Amino acid sequence: MFQLDDRLLALRRQTREWAADFRELALPLDADPALIAEHVDLPGVRFMSTSMIPPEYGPPLVRIDGYHFAAMSALERVVLMEELAWGDAGVLLGSPGGSMSAVLMDILADAAQKEFYYSTLLARPTWTFFALTEAGGGSDPASMRSALSVGDGGGPALLNGTKRYIGNGARATLGVVFARVRPGPLGITAVLVDTADPGFHAEPIETIGLRGVQVSELRLNDVEIADDRILGRHLSPTRRGMWACVQTFDRLRPAVAAVAVGVARAAYEYVLAERLRPTKDERDRLDLIGRRIEGARQLVLYAGAAVDSHSGGRHLASAAKARACRLAEDVTFQACDFLGPGARFEHPLLDKLVRDARGVEFMEGTRTMQMLTLYQCLVSGKINRADPLGIGDRGE
Ligand SMILES: Cc1cc2nc3c(=O)[nH]c(=O)nc-3n(C[C@H](O)[C@H](O)[C@H](O)COP(=O)(O)OP(=O)(O)OC[C@H]3O[C@@H](n4cnc5c(N)ncnc54)[C@H](O)[C@@H]3O)c2cc1C
Repeated sequence: MFQLDDRLLALRRQTREWAADFRELALPLDADPALIAEHVDLPGVRFMSTSMIPPEYGPPLVRIDGYHFAAMSALERVVLMEELAWGDAGVLLGSPGGSMSAVLMDILADAAQKEFYYSTLLARPTWTFFALTEAGGGSDPASMRSALSVGDGGGPALLNGTKRYIGNGARATLGVVFARVRPGPLGITAVLVDTADPGFHAEPIETIGLRGVQVSELRLNDVEIADDRILGRHLSPTRRGMWACVQTFDRLRPAVAAVAVGVARAAYEYVLAERLRPTKDERDRLDLIGRRIEGARQLVLYAGAAVDSHSGGRHLASAAKARACRLAEDVTFQACDFLGPGARFEHPLLDKLVRDARGVEFMEGTRTMQMLTLYQCLVSGKINRADPLGIGDRGE
């Protein structure tokens, strides 16, 4: 069993309090995603807005029970994300902050770009985006059509294309966009975009789940990209573009899995609170759900620890994401069974959890894609079959 130490237990206690604020905002934000702008002072939202900034850029230190927290380790992140997603995944993922783009900047940006980007996040609550997906090409970035081309007469490069399903796209002021500079696997690069630049348009897409994230379509028409906005110029071509993107996903995937665990637990605890006198059969089913949630949480914790120890835990992160998303879907549907045929009408929060579980499944790649990754890790011998959880790496 993965045991949380005192520091992580303190973090969990504190985030449970923050999560109660998120829960209060869950249904109002679902109805009106713009409401998040009025809640940037909630302690949990404030913490999220700077939590991905590396320590050397001076993110505010938060003191909890004598422990200091600023930039999060992957393990801390999974503990935090499960709790806050229990409160509401829409508020969590719709909050300002660096999120995926902050991790990508850490991997790919040069010193001046990092200084500009992180100091912007520190100056005020700033929404950002990470724009990879295109219509028809989400799981297959190799088919990307957005292009970065050098303008006629050696002027600034021009960015053109359309991105779909981009979290926080329409409310962000800053973000990264992936685009093709030439054919082939090394031909994709990432650029930093200011949404006030001419040629940038973003519109929210109506979604059923995770409405607080305001998933958006971005249209990029001849957006001028100055040289200093091109990321990874100081790195070798093999370390730019898709390599950095995959590194970002690997670092964050356990946290996405933790969001799914939080959604599942929210539905489970909702039933426990509503169904005060369950039958024997219902008690057995609830016990089983509780054990499945704990099992998924354990996997997520091991996946987080593997990211922190750089011990090659890609298979763990994919397994955790696949398992946690399946759990969230199963548990949210089963929760409705416990509360009768009208459950989704009579219990708006439960209805929302069912919808949100579907959204988390698509974030960062579906279950099918995670299973493919897992299979590739297995056949390429990257999984230590004697110790697939990396327990030995943790000295246990
Ligand atoms: C709430 C939310 C937030 C998001 N935020 C962002 C964001 O901030 N930035 C961003 O870039 N994207 C974002 N996305 C997009 C997300 O990354 C994509 O939805 C995801 O990558 C899947 O791509 P797709 O929707 O194009 O589906 P497709 O890739 O078209 O897949 C459709 C189905 O086919 C299956 N499939 C595809 N290829 C294979 C294969 N080779 N073998 C077997 N099955 C396959 C998939 O598993 C899936 O079930 C977000 C999505 C959601 C729901």
